[in-house]
Amino acid sequence: MDTAVELRPCLIEVKACRQAYHKDANADLVVLDDVNLTLREGEIVALLGRSGSGKSTLLRIVSGLLKPTAGSVTWRGVPLSGPTDGVAMVFQSFALFPWLTVQENVELGLEARGVARAERERRSEEAIDMIGLGGFENAYPKELSGGMRQRVGLARALVVHPDLLLMDEPFSALDVLTAETLRTDLIDLWMDGKLPVKSVLMVTHNIEEAVLMCDRILVFSSNPGRVAHELKVPFPHPRNRLDPAFRQLVDDIYGIMTRRKPVEPRLPTAPAPSPLALPLQSVGTNVMSGLMETLAAEPYNGRADLPALAGALQYEVDDILPLGETLQLLGFAVLEEGDILLTDAGRSFVNSDTDDRKKIFGEALRQHVPLVNMIRQVLDERWNHRASAVRFRDELEDHMSASYAADTLRTVIGWGRYAELFSYDEEAEQFSLEDIE
Ligand code: ADP
Ligand code: MG
Repeated sequence: MDTAVELRPCLIEVKACRQAYHKDANADLVVLDDVNLTLREGEIVALLGRSGSGKSTLLRIVSGLLKPTAGSVTWRGVPLSGPTDGVAMVFQSFALFPWLTVQENVELGLEARGVARAERERRSEEAIDMIGLGGFENAYPKELSGGMRQRVGLARALVVHPDLLLMDEPFSALDVLTAETLRTDLIDLWMDGKLPVKSVLMVTHNIEEAVLMCDRILVFSSNPGRVAHELKVPFPHPRNRLDPAFRQLVDDIYGIMTRRKPVEPRLPTAPAPSPLALPLQSVGTNVMSGLMETLAAEPYNGRADLPALAGALQYEVDDILPLGETLQLLGFAVLEEGDILLTDAGRSFVNSDTDDRKKIFGEALRQHVPLVNMIRQVLDERWNHRASAVRFRDELEDHMSASYAADTLRTVIGWGRYAELFSYDEEAEQFSLEDIE
């Protein structure tokens, strides 16, 4: 397609969208605010943002599964009032039916649309062949590797020949090599004009993935989520990750994602966001120590370029951002224009022995993670110094989805145990002060 993108037909248009999840009478959790987005035929677009920023929520709005609290969504110029035939979605978790074969899973979408049996078979075979699953028609999902299962997920979406293909972190549950094969296979099909879709919108938290695959990248900011930046990726396919221009763009995006947000004045009537409303990323204490030690040592001496540091530690580049953000949250590091800087607290952690490290970490938790204080306070006040996890999970669920609440609690349990601020009994799902001084 060589018409200028701006002139191509518009598929979806999101205007001034806002999404709030209602908690109680006086507290709304605003997940998306003033989101604007236009998708045209012939482009692959990435929605890039950290976990919890509202990417999946926006994708559900675009698919018609969720009606936004405010704002408008139009599909080919017509207001969207529910799921449309023109859109199909691929999920991170594959979402296959275990009791159905590959072919039956793929045919599902067509059945729902009332396509006759012979036609269903013809089209599902075509989709299965295209996506490289030929010969596996009668296999069950459990007999397939993760990569093959995601191919089934893709075939099931593609079989309906959707105008718009939505993908929600489709490669993030796969190992590195499998993910890369699937990415390049998809791009090859797209470039050969074999993919039966007009446009792709892909959600990812992986910067390199966005630069590798997409024509346009929308960088999403958190709290509330909105499109903070838009970048064009000018490189032809196939793209080379080692190309200096590719590296530069990845670096630039790191800069954007670690830029300090200006503090926005809040309306006097708006409720202050709860200190509990922050989903924590699951980063382990040993990983944090390792990163701080490397950062403190030569050649970095306390300051490093994030992608370079990821390389030195042999991390996937995109695993380092949540790690850096977590160190920043705890006051051990600061992120600045794509660099990470160790703070004084971070230095004193690195220079301490095991016992002192635990103390320093504990102090950081008490200072920066309100949930930890809350747990400790409840335990201190109870005569038996015990408290059930359910209570805190409920509290968190007032501010985030159930799955984020569960992850956040899990992370805090790991951190608090390391710092010896509390004990946790997995069986009883109970916090206590047993064995704590
Ligand atoms: P992402 O896909 O970027 O990780 P999500 O769209 O899943 O983000 O979630 C954005 C925020 O909205 C998170 O803080 C999450 O906890 C919250 N959230 C998502 N779904 C619900 C829900 N059904 N009820 C309450 N909060 C929710
Ligand atoms: Mg998501």
